[in-house]
Amino acid sequence: MTTPQTRTTAGAAGAERAAARSTVYGYPRQGHDRELKRAVEGYWRGRVTAGELEATAARLRAARLRELAEAGIDEVPTGDFSLYDHVLDTAVMVGAVPERHRAALAASPLDGYFAMARGSRQAPPLEMTKWFDTNYHYLVPEVGPETRFAADSRTQVAELREALDAGVAARPVLLGPVTFLLLAKPAPGAPADFAPLGLLDRLLPVYARLLADLRAAGAEWVQLDEPALVQDRTPAELAAAGHAYAELGRPGNRPRLLVATYFDRLGPALPLLARSPVEGLALDFTGRAAANLGDLAAVGGLPGKRLVAGIVDGRNVWINDLAASLSTLGTLLGLAERVDVAASCSLLHVPLDVRAERDIDRQLVRWLAFARQKAGELALLARGLSAGTGAIAAALAANRADLASRAASPLTRDPAVRARAAAVTPAAGDREAPYAERAAAQGAALGLPPLPTTTVGSFPQTGRLRAARAALRAGTLDHAAYEAVIEEEIREVIAFQERAGLDVLVHGEPERDDMVRYFAERLTGFLTTTHGWVQSYGTRCVRPPILLGDVSRPAPMTVRWTSFAQSLTARPVKGVLTGPVTMLAWSFVRDDQPRGDTARQVALALRDEVADLQAAGTAVIQVDEPALRELLPLRAADRAGYLSWATAAFRLTTGAARAATQVHTHMCYAEFGDVLEAIDELGADVISLEAARSGMRVAGELAAAGYPRQAGPGVWDIHSPRVPGREELAALLRLALADLPAARLWVNPDCGLKTRGWEETRAALENLVAAAREVRAEL
Ligand code: GLN
Ligand code: ZN
Repeated sequence: MTTPQTRTTAGAAGAERAAARSTVYGYPRQGHDRELKRAVEGYWRGRVTAGELEATAARLRAARLRELAEAGIDEVPTGDFSLYDHVLDTAVMVGAVPERHRAALAASPLDGYFAMARGSRQAPPLEMTKWFDTNYHYLVPEVGPETRFAADSRTQVAELREALDAGVAARPVLLGPVTFLLLAKPAPGAPADFAPLGLLDRLLPVYARLLADLRAAGAEWVQLDEPALVQDRTPAELAAAGHAYAELGRPGNRPRLLVATYFDRLGPALPLLARSPVEGLALDFTGRAAANLGDLAAVGGLPGKRLVAGIVDGRNVWINDLAASLSTLGTLLGLAERVDVAASCSLLHVPLDVRAERDIDRQLVRWLAFARQKAGELALLARGLSAGTGAIAAALAANRADLASRAASPLTRDPAVRARAAAVTPAAGDREAPYAERAAAQGAALGLPPLPTTTVGSFPQTGRLRAARAALRAGTLDHAAYEAVIEEEIREVIAFQERAGLDVLVHGEPERDDMVRYFAERLTGFLTTTHGWVQSYGTRCVRPPILLGDVSRPAPMTVRWTSFAQSLTARPVKGVLTGPVTMLAWSFVRDDQPRGDTARQVALALRDEVADLQAAGTAVIQVDEPALRELLPLRAADRAGYLSWATAAFRLTTGAARAATQVHTHMCYAEFGDVLEAIDELGADVISLEAARSGMRVAGELAAAGYPRQAGPGVWDIHSPRVPGREELAALLRLALADLPAARLWVNPDCGLKTRGWEETRAALENLVAAAREVRAEL
């Protein structure tokens, strides 16, 4: 191995190499106690003034600077902070404000900003969608032929000044112009052939202006994030990226430019940026993106440029293998003028500080690195790279010991689980009979009418339920009393569904505050955190469980509640489980084995739950996979491999169901094009899908793909409090009937009802049953 020590004076000219610096691209925004969330929501409710909100935000920014500096980070990012979302900030910064929000923004920058994020009485918000393959959601900018960009550098400049005044070396981070346009969607009313990227030449002068302003404010370097370049891009898009950086890189009164990409390998855009006049590239060298190393060598490196190496995984929670990273960094030293050390992406995607986890065993805490700990790792790596491994010998030894303890721990490796997983054959994913036979057996067992009605699982979370949960946590309500509240909720949900005339009932999921966490708390191999908050969107934060070891199920998890619900009614009650892919997608997963192996273990545990539900008399079992599409790799070439293990895990979960047991699945997104085949591959007897907002388009897509089984394209858009009327629901059903035969069509809402109130739920479900009856009568 080439030790970094021998390379500290590398380079063709043999000149003394600059010491490596550590940096990050972004840091969690909410604060240790989610102070930002509370301040922003308080502002919305009128309980916090604009001045108080800004003071809280400034305090949090200062704390971040201090924390990063204390951790030994040499160059801190600025401008990555946001009151809501950095893509929305970018839209405001370049003046890409939809017509409908312009007046409000002019009247009050703060209220106009929040109106773009959340909508106002006058104007709906921007659309929200997932940030690449993470669980962060951004607001989708809208641009059209009429968009006139204008630079507003005030926030960026002010935040840079804050950092420079605090005496730290700072580098503003901006979303790059190419990614901004590639993420944008055409504004309402734009011509059908309008592509946002066509506005690039209008946008570049605005970026040039921003860069000049930042230079004037003291920025030596500015980072431009271009993660969209790690996706499959057309030659025209690549050419646009080349053009953008040729333009922005023109000599002039500008800071030095660092173009950053992350989440995957850069591919064909790598030679393009390497040849461009920008002074630096930041590349991801973790996971799939590790291919950047070979690609970089193949293009002859970055002579004369700065390379920022994303070597610490910025989106998972495990400690870094410092020796392995130093070895990679040592190789990289020969490939650029100067090499600095960073996390693979913004640390926005991990919780803030593992030291806040008082309930996690001290030994396990040593295996974990949240944002604060990752900053420390980066500082160590930079030191090791500059001064040699001897300078960080003690830290390396401790790191080696922690990695070894994790690898050898019985918590991560359970021989029984491994033996069982190794013995799985593909046949375990096969149902006992082909679909036609299953459908006949299920028809006989269930005796449902045509166009059967059902719901997706959860019912409104009532105040009583929330109070009971809080009391249980506080210790003022004992377990038995808590369970009595759950039973009472189930009684009401069942009674309502019987009254409303639904055909397949659910118990309403009152025992689950979160569909992943509930199962994670009951499966061996998962860890849950108390403070491990990660921003999902705006002020909404989630605490993803940590999947750290081999997974098994000590005891049934849902049978008690599903059976209780079934005991209250003669109609079939559907058991509802969270599927293996979604369990992985909404957790931090182990990085010491392929995700497919982890998914198989989770599937086996869930398979036991399916078997137990069935043995307890549950005739309909739904395995939710709302996240199936979320984990889809960013590059098409990697997708088949993912879909193969994902569908295998679902099949393994449900393969235990007998022919007469009806297996349902549920997914909630309206874009199915690239996963239709995989959906078929799952083999579920019934699938419910989001469809109302897209006018049942998915029914046509399923029909066109020759989907052979039953489907319930959702007729009620549960994301809005609006109650759809019977006629509207019947019309959607008739639309679906144009594509799917009545014998294979189900009637259900788009998704679960836990975010809805009881009043609208009652009215909408009564209308839904009435609509189904009306359309049934026409068959
Ligand atoms: N069964 C879950 C529910 O109804 C499904 C939620 C989801 O698809 N995200 O809440
Ligand atoms: Zn859903």
